[in-house]
Amino acid sequence: MKRAALLICSILLFGGPMNASAGEKVINIAHRGASAYLPEHTLPAKALAYNMEADYIEQDVVLTKDNVPLVIHDIHLDTVTDVAGRFPERKRADGRFYAIDFTFDEIKSLKVNERIDLKTGKAVFPGRFPPGKSEFRLASLNEEIEMIQGLNRSTGRNIGIYPEIKEPAWHREEGRDITAVVLKTLADYGYKSAADNVFLQCFDFAELKRIRNELGCQLPLIQLVEDEDNFDIGEVASYADGIGPSLKRIVTGVDANGGLTVSDFVEQSHRVGLKVHPWTFRADSLPPGVTGEALLTALIEKAGVDGIFSDFPDVSGRKVRLFNLKNRGQN
Ligand code: CA
Repeated sequence: MKRAALLICSILLFGGPMNASAGEKVINIAHRGASAYLPEHTLPAKALAYNMEADYIEQDVVLTKDNVPLVIHDIHLDTVTDVAGRFPERKRADGRFYAIDFTFDEIKSLKVNERIDLKTGKAVFPGRFPPGKSEFRLASLNEEIEMIQGLNRSTGRNIGIYPEIKEPAWHREEGRDITAVVLKTLADYGYKSAADNVFLQCFDFAELKRIRNELGCQLPLIQLVEDEDNFDIGEVASYADGIGPSLKRIVTGVDANGGLTVSDFVEQSHRVGLKVHPWTFRADSLPPGVTGEALLTALIEKAGVDGIFSDFPDVSGRKVRLFNLKNRGQN
């Protein structure tokens, strides 16, 4: 009802359903923190993102053995920590080390490194922070929220959080309800209503629907979608506030003049009242012949996205701020 009313308002105000989000700021989302510059999902990477004026900072969440919500991208520990050297006997039959097999204290004792490709043993992004240098640790969702809320207090700003529930079906097979832990943690820190400065995201369609319809969660929800997912966008709009596709669904190619072409995915999403927050802007991993500026222009000005996940929150942030100032009178 509320979403329908908002959509009607925006049609009246802005003259067409294609601009469902018109008038709202485009947001800059720090993907795993300022992950282009410091090891992903460490508190220093989050503090740097905060100072690069991200509007939201992302947390991927998995559970530890003692049910602590841990901020890490994978259910595995081995691509970003020294777990294999520290606890070699704790790997599973598939050779991998799982966060859920370790207590939070054990995980805290691990050193974090820049993401490694396990096959080559080399950094996934060779130009980024050198693997194995300096001193980084993982953090709980609680620790990260406390840091962001602490910074909000000390700076007088209001930066949001953007947690992702990772692999809820896998957690259930392991006998855990990760959603319950994440929702409880968010509520404990004051994130309870549609007006709170948070987006909750998940790739699992059934789980996100359950979060809205069965658990009665009021938080803004973002349905993440993989490139191979087929779905009914109207159905997604019945429980989510936005959708998070990869860039590929939006930027489709290059036209005769060398400009980037975009699909009607954003337009279709706006038509049913969904915001669109694509992933991931990486200035060091662009398609051949495409500049970061051209990609950001295509996404923001041509396609009309509502936000961007970015490993480079400084670069995307500059573009987003300029656009908001110029087009929407806000920064
Ligand atoms: Ca994520």
